[in-house]
Amino acid sequence: MRIDLHAHTTCSDGTQSPTELVAAARAAALDVVAITDHDTLTGWAEAGAAAIEHGIALVPGVEISCERGGRSVHLLGYLVDPAYDPLAAELAKARDSRVTRLERMVALLAADGIPLTYAAVLAQVPPGATPGRPHIADALVAAGVVASRDEAFERWLHDDSPYYVHHYAPDPLRAVELVRAAGGVAVLAHPFAATRGAVILADEVISHLADAGLGGIEADHPDHDEAARARARALATRLGLFVTGSSDYHGSGKTTRLGDNLTDPAVLAALERAGSGSAIIRPASH
Ligand code: AMP
Ligand code: FE
Ligand code: FE
Ligand code: ZN
Repeated sequence: MRIDLHAHTTCSDGTQSPTELVAAARAAALDVVAITDHDTLTGWAEAGAAAIEHGIALVPGVEISCERGGRSVHLLGYLVDPAYDPLAAELAKARDSRVTRLERMVALLAADGIPLTYAAVLAQVPPGATPGRPHIADALVAAGVVASRDEAFERWLHDDSPYYVHHYAPDPLRAVELVRAAGGVAVLAHPFAATRGAVILADEVISHLADAGLGGIEADHPDHDEAARARARALATRLGLFVTGSSDYHGSGKTTRLGDNLTDPAVLAALERAGSGSAIIRPASH
């Protein structure tokens, strides 16, 4: 069974619609794919309908942008109850803050002579999508200023850039608690991704997250080298957490392909047992 538990769509910074994601997952011979857009659940309904149509199982999820010590931390929340207001309110607050933040980043870039307007960036944000730095990158690509999202991040958009502006983001401990309270399963996303700078969370902090109900750690991720994967596995074993694998697919927005990393079927079964806020959508044949 081929299971990929982390993918984005045009509901955030992916380049394919939820329907296109599900079709691409089928074409990549996946049996199970998760939709995990940044700070939003808006793609769930469309992706669920497409999953039934394409005969593939869909795990509804979200990637929550968190912040600890000024650094960005991503938490995956699977099978949360979309009607649980405290979580929905927190996600809405983050999305609102992202709009102001986008405008401020564009102003800083433009003030420094980088040819960019807020209107040009907004033109890259699909209707209803969670806006993010990749949309600024897309505007720079569209204007011919850079060749790719990667180049835009390397030059101007990375976390330590002088143009970086923070947006509202909950502490990861609060996000774990919200996911659990919403009946969901929390998984720490790519915790040791070297491309994002220094290791963000100390093992001790991850241990606190485990005490608060963290269920798993994403070990097999495109931004994890072998050492990072081994470290994530060892920590998961020590803390009694499961490990997941994923592609963190973003369509053409990143070079990874669906199925680049996979999750063990036994882990999916454990995740399903632990999540009660919503259900995995399975076509009749599964
Ligand atoms: P934001 O959520 O607006 O702070 O933007 C962070 C998102 O940008 C991450 O979740 C990734 O999807 C994307 N990202 C980060 N680094 C890169 C990169 N080098 N190339 C393309 N996308 C990136
Ligand atoms: Fe992303
Ligand atoms: Fe992430
Ligand atoms: Zn992601």
